[in-house]
Amino acid sequence: MPELPEVETTKTSLLPLLEQRVQSVSVHNSSLRWPIPNDIEKLIGQRLIQLKRRSKYILAEFERNQMLWHLGMSGSFRLCQPNDELRKHDHLIINFEDHQLRYHDPRRFGCILWLDSESKSKLIDTLGPEPLSDDFNAAYLQEKLNKKNVGIKIALMDNHVVVGVGNIYATESLFNIGVHPAQPASTLSKTQVEKLVVEVKRILKHAIDLGGSTLRDYTNAMGENGYFQQTLLAYGRAGEMCVNCETTLENLKLGQRASVFCPQCQPLKLKNTEI
Ligand SMILES: [Zn+2]
Repeated sequence: MPELPEVETTKTSLLPLLEQRVQSVSVHNSSLRWPIPNDIEKLIGQRLIQLKRRSKYILAEFERNQMLWHLGMSGSFRLCQPNDELRKHDHLIINFEDHQLRYHDPRRFGCILWLDSESKSKLIDTLGPEPLSDDFNAAYLQEKLNKKNVGIKIALMDNHVVVGVGNIYATESLFNIGVHPAQPASTLSKTQVEKLVVEVKRILKHAIDLGGSTLRDYTNAMGENGYFQQTLLAYGRAGEMCVNCETTLENLKLGQRASVFCPQCQPLKLKNTEI
């Protein structure tokens, strides 16, 4: 599933479209998570003014309308030339002056929506802070976690706490700071919360620098692959040896998601033992 770093990488790779005017639009299959709006031709003649990322959404601001794009489970955008061969699952084509933008999505959980209505704005208005912003800091996180009885990994993946920390990044951050994924969120010590904030930011920045990663076949709009996957220490490595202590990594189901951890480096402490 595309995570925050892939969405950031995708947004960056679409920047060549800025200031270009839409020439034509064609919809090959409108049935995504929500249907592609049937008035999407309103885009024709409009210049793309700004591209922003909020959580895992791309906000595309045109002269008169704003769109909200989400990659779902398997979506990707690609910049092409009009005579490039059309692939199966290329559902939407937007012709700009110098590029053709194609939205490709085999599983069709993504979305292409207008952001002009209040109901759609709600998708992004209720979200927690961006993990790489200053609003995501130890004082903020501590206050949020104090009210949570769930395990720290579930709290960290809650979009109302902080956006964009998916399973890979939560697993890796907790492994790197030696905190058990099921440790009750409200029992983390001040030092652990501080380390966690630093680690989440570090690991997301690292993934963005390497061009995203979470899908083995993930490619950005230029068709380039991400390399971050090759640097993972815990995620996807259950049954293998811990790189620190050589104990076998274990897998725990938390909130329906696999959670790999090292029982030696990430002992489960049910109370805050910091003096
Ligand atoms: Zn270990």
